[in-house]
Amino acid sequence: MNLQQARDALRSARRVAVLTGAGVSAESGIPTFRDAMSGHWSRFRPEDLASPEAYYRDPETVWQWYAGRYADVTRAQPNRAHTLLAQLEREKAEGFLLATQNVDGLHTRAGSGRLVELHGNLTTARCEACGAVAPLPSPGAFTPPPSCSACQGRMRPNIVWFGEFLPEDALAAATGAFQRADVALIIGTSGAVYPAAGLAFETLREGGTVIEVNPEETELTPYMTFSLRQVASGGLASLCP
Ligand SMILES: [Zn+2]
Repeated sequence: MNLQQARDALRSARRVAVLTGAGVSAESGIPTFRDAMSGHWSRFRPEDLASPEAYYRDPETVWQWYAGRYADVTRAQPNRAHTLLAQLEREKAEGFLLATQNVDGLHTRAGSGRLVELHGNLTTARCEACGAVAPLPSPGAFTPPPSCSACQGRMRPNIVWFGEFLPEDALAAATGAFQRADVALIIGTSGAVYPAAGLAFETLREGGTVIEVNPEETELTPYMTFSLRQVASGGLASLCP
């Protein structure tokens, strides 16, 4: 498949499923988890900040870390990749689903609504007692931990941590959409993170087309119908002219 054929396939597709990863956020200046572990945070290990064990041992430190990441994403703006995906959703309507590994909420801010967040969302918290999810106050007004307006319980970051399962309903929705997709796009993700990376194979197994957008070759590249060696915004602009 060449670029023109990829464009045609995407234009004529009735059902489109998209997976986005860190590469899409990077263009908005969002540091990766590991890149954010600088200064004060460089003496921690990732599992000291992002695991249920760490949280129950030291919720203040874990909340401090997430409050900082939350402030970072609040300052960032959606980029052209986010807006092109929101536009693609408007074109495909109910035939469209976007699954993201990103936790920054930028897809929502760019106008995406048919969206599942496989790894949670930095801009919300979840009640440890009743499971209610609520948006965090603006960073300037936010003193963690938040408490639940329904039951007054302590709330935790609404993030999927090391050793935790992906939210079942989000994963099921993504899996179904990739199975049904005429065209799937895998954008800015290395393919190394399972089970999200397995979504590409759901589409391939059903005979669909899978197009990868990534400046680097990935573990998925050998299996792709077509690969665009570009950053997310440039690749999407090439595919959706
Ligand atoms: Zn509650």
